[in-house]
Amino acid sequence: MQERSFRAFVAIEIPDSIRNMISALIGRLRERDVTNCVRWVRPEGIHVTLKFLGDTPAVKERVIESALESTAAIRQGFDLSLGPLGTFRSRRGARDQVVWVGLSSETAQLLELAADVDRALVAMGFPMETRPFTPHLTLGRTNRGVRSVPSFTEDAAWPPGDGAFHVNHLSLMESNLRPDGARYTRRAIFPFSRSPRIERPL
Ligand code: ATP
Ligand code: MG
Repeated sequence: MQERSFRAFVAIEIPDSIRNMISALIGRLRERDVTNCVRWVRPEGIHVTLKFLGDTPAVKERVIESALESTAAIRQGFDLSLGPLGTFRSRRGARDQVVWVGLSSETAQLLELAADVDRALVAMGFPMETRPFTPHLTLGRTNRGVRSVPSFTEDAAWPPGDGAFHVNHLSLMESNLRPDGARYTRRAIFPFSRSPRIERPL
């Protein structure tokens, strides 16, 4: 049977070198998580979420892709770097927490990009993002009902000195929820314009 819908989101993927640094960090945090209060993410799935679309009819995919293509085409590449660790409350409920890595460097460009993506998709009928965008990479989420969580915001080797990376495209992703955690697959890539913006001569 043909696929009717898929759980969609728009993301920035990270290079493998950066993924490896985060994977080592998760290994260290996991060792400190002696009570197993956090579900740590699979390193291969780590990404920056720009917009969550949720269950999306497959027939809409082409028009979503063309909106994302136009959005990406007018952007230029920018640099991000791995920042300090942090925690915040998850959407699921006041008691759940998310452990994340913050992003620094050219975050103004990341925020602009997220706003552009939101605008393009709102124009197609998706709900507008009401919360401020906080650039981060999710490392783990506390299990339901966990009351006290050790501090995961300190790590002697974090942030790494060489955690910079270049962003030159965005991706439409599919999420498949499974009991042991979500699996993500890329559906399409949208490159930013490679050449600098052309300025009109005076
Ligand atoms: P699980 O739901 O099993 O914990 P997950 O959150 O990684 O796994 P999804 O729920 O499919 O998987 O979410 C895909 C991506 O979209 C993740 O980066 C998630 O943080 C983000 N996301 C999910 N729901 C929302 C939402 N309502 N608003 C913004 N981002 C969201
Ligand atoms: Mg989720």
